[in-house]
Amino acid sequence: MPIDVTRPYDDQNIFAKILRGEIPNRTVYEDDHALAFHDINPQAPHHILVIPKGAYVSWDDFSAKASDAEIAGFIRAVGHVAREAGMVEPGYRLLANIGADGGQEVPHLHIHIFAGKPLGLMIA
Ligand code: 5GP
Repeated sequence: MPIDVTRPYDDQNIFAKILRGEIPNRTVYEDDHALAFHDINPQAPHHILVIPKGAYVSWDDFSAKASDAEIAGFIRAVGHVAREAGMVEPGYRLLANIGADGGQEVPHLHIHIFAGKPLGLMIA
């Protein structure tokens, strides 16, 4: 069910629970700013989610409110995960769904990393 990103952060969302260690995940990377783990329902041969450690509902919330250190750390973490996974060649895709029309279902910012096959043009 797509979400309303104007609502306050819900600390019971599934990714908040993953960050607190209440729900298991297949972690691929973690640092002070980010956690990366395999998507439970992969849409490509490689499908990793990267989330910031701070409580941000969406990319909109994060880009408006996060500190420069959080933003830099998170973006560097996304790049690091893709490089470490060997995705730079032949390539990969980053995706952030934002809000109801964007199809966002989990109200904690997450970047999808897709790789492992030619992905074509995927808008909807
Ligand atoms: P959204 O549509 O919000 O951009 O994407 C949410 C993603 O989270 C989906 O790709 C979905 O498969 C994934 N997801 C939902 N619940 C869980 C979970 O409990 N664990 C993991 N690893 N991924 C989840």
